[in-house]
Amino acid sequence: MFNRRKPTDASGLNEKSDVIVQLDDIYKSFIMGKEAVPALRGVSLGIKRGEILCLMGPSGSGKTTLLNIIGGLDTASRGHVLVDGKNVVSLSEEKLARLRLEKMGFIFQNFNLLSNFTALENVQVPMTLIGKRDSATRARDLLKQVGLGDRMTHYPSELSGGQQQRVAIARALANDPPLIVGDEMTGDLDTQTSYEVMQLITDLNKERGTTIVYVTHDPRMSKYAHRVLNMRDGKMVEEE
Ligand code: ADP
Ligand code: MG
Repeated sequence: MFNRRKPTDASGLNEKSDVIVQLDDIYKSFIMGKEAVPALRGVSLGIKRGEILCLMGPSGSGKTTLLNIIGGLDTASRGHVLVDGKNVVSLSEEKLARLRLEKMGFIFQNFNLLSNFTALENVQVPMTLIGKRDSATRARDLLKQVGLGDRMTHYPSELSGGQQQRVAIARALANDPPLIVGDEMTGDLDTQTSYEVMQLITDLNKERGTTIVYVTHDPRMSKYAHRVLNMRDGKMVEEE
């Protein structure tokens, strides 16, 4: 369903590390008034290229905070974060924005589509932001790949939840990032649609070698991962 990456990317000839995300002893506290609320308390984690990693754990255990730190949407209070060999913490806002656009695709529970933009325009946005040419052609291809060839000019409000999430997946793929980050991406979808979305994600991993890290509280959705990690109180608790 998805186009394969060019063979040179998969061959290892570019001497890239086989670890795409490396977290070392990450701490994060949120300051609430005079109190520091600890969200992460010493998390270390390596994610391999081509891996599908699922994070689980009770509400408030730090899953979203961890994803946000990987994605550069939030900064750690302490510890090192490397994404694709780059120290995320030391990057300027501009470089970080670029890294996010080129190296990562984000999929959220509430889809986060721009409501005044059509499906096609939503998928074009990340490409336009980095000045990619022929963004409309590529956006059309991506929407066809996620099964929305006949919904391109629809607005988000004219699409079902499952269809909106497919648009979000197509958007996440726009710049062909090596890493996809998903936070409760099936949380608002019915079971059948959730399976379809997870199947799409798994196909993507198989066919393009895309690394996927996702959070879910649904054990049925964790079955798609190569590895499942559990968090509790801001720490990793066990490895399956
Ligand atoms: P999860 O995604 O596992 O439900 P979160 O990472 O959202 O957990 O939250 C971890 C902890 O950090 C919780 O105690 C939460 O209340 C706190 N927290 C998260 N984001 C913020 C924030 N922006 N401001 C204050 N506290 C926060
Ligand atoms: Mg969360």
